[in-house]
Amino acid sequence: MNDRIVTLPPEEMPRRWYNILPDLPKPLPPPLDPKTKEPVKPEQLAPLFPKELIMQEVSQERFINIPDEVIEVYMRYRPTPLYRAIYLEKMLKTPAKIFYKYEGVSPTGSHKPNTAIAQAYYNMKEGVERLTTETGAGQWGSALAYATYLFGLKSTIYMVKISYHQKPFRKVLMKLYGAEVIPSPSDKTPIGREILEKDPENPGSLGIAISEAIFDAATSDDAKYSLGSVLNHVLLHQTIIGEEAIKQMEILDVTPDYVVGAVGGGSNFAGLAYPFYRLKKDKGLDIKFLAVEPEAAPTLTKGVYTYDFGDTARLTPLLKMYTLGHTFIPPPIHAGGLRYHGDAPTLCLLKDEGEIDAVAYDQVSVFQGAHLFFQAEGILPAPESAHAVKAAIDLAIEAKEKNEERVILFNLSGHGLFDMKAYEEYIEGRLEPYSYPQELIMQSIEELKKLGVEA
Ligand SMILES: *Cc1c(COP(=O)(O)O)cnc(C)c1O
Repeated sequence: MNDRIVTLPPEEMPRRWYNILPDLPKPLPPPLDPKTKEPVKPEQLAPLFPKELIMQEVSQERFINIPDEVIEVYMRYRPTPLYRAIYLEKMLKTPAKIFYKYEGVSPTGSHKPNTAIAQAYYNMKEGVERLTTETGAGQWGSALAYATYLFGLKSTIYMVKISYHQKPFRKVLMKLYGAEVIPSPSDKTPIGREILEKDPENPGSLGIAISEAIFDAATSDDAKYSLGSVLNHVLLHQTIIGEEAIKQMEILDVTPDYVVGAVGGGSNFAGLAYPFYRLKKDKGLDIKFLAVEPEAAPTLTKGVYTYDFGDTARLTPLLKMYTLGHTFIPPPIHAGGLRYHGDAPTLCLLKDEGEIDAVAYDQVSVFQGAHLFFQAEGILPAPESAHAVKAAIDLAIEAKEKNEERVILFNLSGHGLFDMKAYEEYIEGRLEPYSYPQELIMQSIEELKKLGVEA
């Protein structure tokens, strides 16, 4: 132990996940069947997910025990370190104390294995032989490829075609773990074939890839589908991050005044923040929560809180969330993991209730923040994580202006060592800021109104 790195001994690793559902300020609006507009029954999800995950999705238990087999795999890289950013504090000359929980030490370099491992385990227990999923830049796909490899399952990963060709490294990682990686749109599914017939050069999108992965799972007896963010059970698995961080902050005898995270679908933010939300309510502490998103996909700051589809092809149930509309296609920012039109329903409810704040940044200022952080701390943030870095820096600068000794904790959700193309554009000054794509957002929100579902 030194001043900079707080490690937690393996035997101290938390043995349960925290479920926020019973602690929400009001009940979570249920997912709706798009045809009947009635709440989706848990059984309706059975073709896509194993029973145990469906139970976790709707559970009202505050804590859920982590199975021993999952603990064993977590132990390969957990507990992850908590850092005090002493060099960044010095560089900024701030009276603030800055801490970050570093998830980039996982085998695939982000927080995503925390849920991939749990999902692969429960599927394996229920006799599923193969998992299907989609991936953009490949963070989620490589996490699932790793987890399915460990539990002896096959995996089929529909990777957005343009990323398949332009971001080859995570594709290689997935294949090394034995995954089948298919550029999407593909000729394996009707929707893929239909799109290819019209336009053989279609670059693909996450929406199309989700549809292909869902179709594949729904039409195969041996396969189920796996999602890397947004759903309650995914956020649940990520709370291992915050549960560890609580123990690590206890060792130092500090509590955060601010908990900060980047938001794509909400899983790494929730993973760190929700356990501190419980602490705040139980102990009457004053902790503020800040969700950080890109200006190119400003869901929480510019979206509407209403029912919408989770995917572009309208295959999913309707979820009540802040949304930019399922037809919204965000500009091609480098933080691929933050290019999503909606957000996790629990996170959206908390935002609507004023329990968390949100802020949006353009990608140039985000990379500037990441650059500063890299020079001070020596870790290169993933472009997604860099949003949290930028917000933490701004909070620390504000602390200096107000001469305030605040404690800031943020989630460094992954490293950026596979994102060198993005950093190259940044140093060559070729990075586009992509501020609010106002017109695109207005168009897709108009489309959304046609759905006619009461918010
Ligand atoms: C996928 C990803 C995100 C965004 O997803 P969330 O579900 O919002 O956490 C953030 N950071 C990294 C490193 C990612 O891979």
